[in-house]
Amino acid sequence: MSQRPIYLDNHATTPLDERVLTAMLPYFREHFGNAASINHLYGWEAEAAVKQSRQILAEAIHATPEEIVFTSGATEANNLAIKGVAEAYFKKGRHIITVQTEHNAVLDPCEYLESLGFEVTFLPVEKEGLIDLIELEKAIRPETILVSVMAANNEIGVLQPLAEIGAICRSHEVLFHTDAAQAIGKISLDVEAMQIDLMSLTAHKIYGPKGIGALYVRRRNPRVKLSPQTHGGGHERGMRSGTLYTPQIVGFAKAVELAIPEMDSEAKRLTKLRQDLWSKISQLDDVILNGHPIQRLPGNLNVSVKNVDGAALLLGLQPVMAVSSGAACTSTKTAPSHVLIALEHDRDLALASVRFGIGRFNNQEEINTVAEHFCKTISSLRTINTATQRL
Ligand SMILES: *Cc1c(COP(=O)(O)O)cnc(C)c1O
Repeated sequence: MSQRPIYLDNHATTPLDERVLTAMLPYFREHFGNAASINHLYGWEAEAAVKQSRQILAEAIHATPEEIVFTSGATEANNLAIKGVAEAYFKKGRHIITVQTEHNAVLDPCEYLESLGFEVTFLPVEKEGLIDLIELEKAIRPETILVSVMAANNEIGVLQPLAEIGAICRSHEVLFHTDAAQAIGKISLDVEAMQIDLMSLTAHKIYGPKGIGALYVRRRNPRVKLSPQTHGGGHERGMRSGTLYTPQIVGFAKAVELAIPEMDSEAKRLTKLRQDLWSKISQLDDVILNGHPIQRLPGNLNVSVKNVDGAALLLGLQPVMAVSSGAACTSTKTAPSHVLIALEHDRDLALASVRFGIGRFNNQEEINTVAEHFCKTISSLRTINTATQRL
């Protein structure tokens, strides 16, 4: 009897909620129409479902339905926001500001733009992962066109002060984009109160399907211009062509609709589980908490373990729990996470790091098992260490 490891990698992706699947199924079957078909019932049904989904998503972030552009996920939304703004505003200026701890789906488009002649400032973070707002303001120049700062970090869970960043950007008339892939449905997001101009979203981090996301694009005060990155039939008001993926869109909206009302109570439950896990594993010597102690995603715990080999640690944990390490396997070789390096960790410490992503379907019993096995694994690895050192 092989038991599957406890799933604690909810920042990588989440299981699909059964209620989301149920909502999606009719749109694979009888309601298979193309939302752009205006001449018959099949098209109208799909169009009605897309319209309702757009409304749900808009309400969740205090936007209007016309400001939601569906994409294949947050990667595409980030690319559309960053490259789309760069192309539309390059006559105004060619300087962009972002942060060293962003997701690669933000860093890579920025580096690509550098290769085209744009200038990008990659702001450092303080030791708990937050940006320095004074440094941000100092980095803004007359030719700055965009600031891109993520809402919640996918590795260390840190929540950046969106409203403060929005206010700074607005006062300098610079557009503000935020990658909210980890934030939607987990913390409250309000594009008006936070003065956000562009926001990337995805469904599969909140128990929705993979392959669907959205970009919020502000239409008023100011109206954001965006150059499309995918040309074709002119869908999504010309900003993103391609036949809309109705079942995924319905699933995305359902996932958001389920998450929002339960956000506060779920945050409390997850915070309690996280704190319990941390209180147990912090009893070990030389275990460091990565990120901010409070200003972080409720379900995120990220720790670095001294005097332990990262690869051996992950191998020891694997039979019992599915977690991520501080290594980013972007290609064939293992590199330490750029986020942990930005926190000024050395290479070995960054590699000996574990990200726990606690989610909707985890419970206290699982946390107990995980904590116990984690402590046991580290103790035995350290015993082996000292034994070999004595030889
Ligand atoms: C998961 C994630 C992405 C990528 O989203 P996809 O929908 O998988 O393309 C981008 N940014 C952050 C912060 C993420 O966590």
